[in-house]
Amino acid sequence: MSTASTTPVTIMRQHLIDPEICIRCNTCEETCPVDAISHDSRNYVVDAAKCKYCYDCISPCPTGAIDSWRNMRTDLAYPIAEQLLWDTLPAQVALDEGPGVGAGDTAALPDDVAKIAAASTAGQGGIAPPPWSAAHPYVNLYSIQAPAVATVSGNFRLTGEDASSDIRHIVLDFGNASFPVLEGQTIGILAPGLDAAGRPHHVRLYSVASPRDGERPRYNNLSLTVKRVTADHEGAAVRGVASNFLCDLKKGEQVNVVGPYGTSFLMPNHPGSNLLMICTGTGSAPMRAMTERRRRKSVPAEDGKLMLFFGARTPDELPYFGPLTRLPKDFIDINLAFSRVPDQPRQYVQDLIRTRAAEVVRLLRDENTYLYLCGLKGMEQGVDAAISEVCGNHGLDWKTLQAALLLQGRYHVETY
Ligand code: NAP
Repeated sequence: MSTASTTPVTIMRQHLIDPEICIRCNTCEETCPVDAISHDSRNYVVDAAKCKYCYDCISPCPTGAIDSWRNMRTDLAYPIAEQLLWDTLPAQVALDEGPGVGAGDTAALPDDVAKIAAASTAGQGGIAPPPWSAAHPYVNLYSIQAPAVATVSGNFRLTGEDASSDIRHIVLDFGNASFPVLEGQTIGILAPGLDAAGRPHHVRLYSVASPRDGERPRYNNLSLTVKRVTADHEGAAVRGVASNFLCDLKKGEQVNVVGPYGTSFLMPNHPGSNLLMICTGTGSAPMRAMTERRRRKSVPAEDGKLMLFFGARTPDELPYFGPLTRLPKDFIDINLAFSRVPDQPRQYVQDLIRTRAAEVVRLLRDENTYLYLCGLKGMEQGVDAAISEVCGNHGLDWKTLQAALLLQGRYHVETY
């Protein structure tokens, strides 16, 4: 005999955050456009009543903790108060359990769940796959509870003495600790001390700027490109916690490091693969890592093309300006855009993409080309418009191509 209730039971795919993997870096909370994500001193949580399933938070999450889901009866969705107490994610509950559900209801459940699951992974929900020939990355080797301890073996200013920004090349040595990274991965820095609310500071993420075999080949070290943050996006004075901590570090001092992270923004390793790299400011870090990897491993007969678009305010503000301009022209095609050189028109990377349209399109037509975009969030739109325009002028439909590139792990974006 059916015990079906008179109120129909609805099923939701509840968005949750895995407290075991989450590094409390605040990226998801900053990204969520509807303020569905919040935190206390223990956990980051998602409000089921607010989450609109836009998936904006999924791909920026360094650990994948954000990509956690449970199929739930809507009336039994986990409330925030309960999520804040979790140490681990609860297991998926059987959907035919609980008050008010009977045989008549459960017969319909599997279909509903399948539909919800399909909807949630369609479109841009998932994390982009890496290039097919990428090396397999290690992730989440070190947690907040058990970080790796690195020793600073170098801290050099990259920007000119008169430049307005202080950008530094910081080398961290891991001694005997195992901390394997690939180009394009990020690491988390734990700045000491507490925030204004008396909680430990969020983890701050930095892209690795050195290739997989170390800043110095076959040394257990890596480098970061760090800009000292002295103002917020609106220009108001603010002292960036982790950036100032890192920029002030002296040789021999120690840093707690978590990670590594990143399974998508990785470089291809097969012969003939081309890298089309577009970056601004310190977004150059992963491009330096990939370029240096290619330079060290260069086998001229097998090398693909490297093309770089790099934007900075002035040559003095462009990290790695000297070493970059000394690279052979037949190794890498470098296009530098400067926005604040006195008496010169403001130039952005997207302007140079238009100038080099024929070559950009030639690369985009090549199925061995991998596209990387890293730096200021604001450039995403401008770069997209420029690529769309140059493609259109050459008979290519960018939206169709972009969708294919994403699916094939050939289009990677990391902007902040
Ligand atoms: P920045 O010096 O403020 O800007 C670099 C250049 O980009 C300037 O020439 C700037 O021009 C230009 N720019 C501004 N708006 C633009 C737009 N809409 N389109 C194209 N170009 C634009 O850059 P930054 O402070 O170094 O910032 C780099 C970003 O990379 C940060 O958001 C950082 O979080 C991110 N990032 C850093 C790392 C890392 O490992 N350190 C890794 C990944 C990403 P004007 O200002 O003159 O207009």
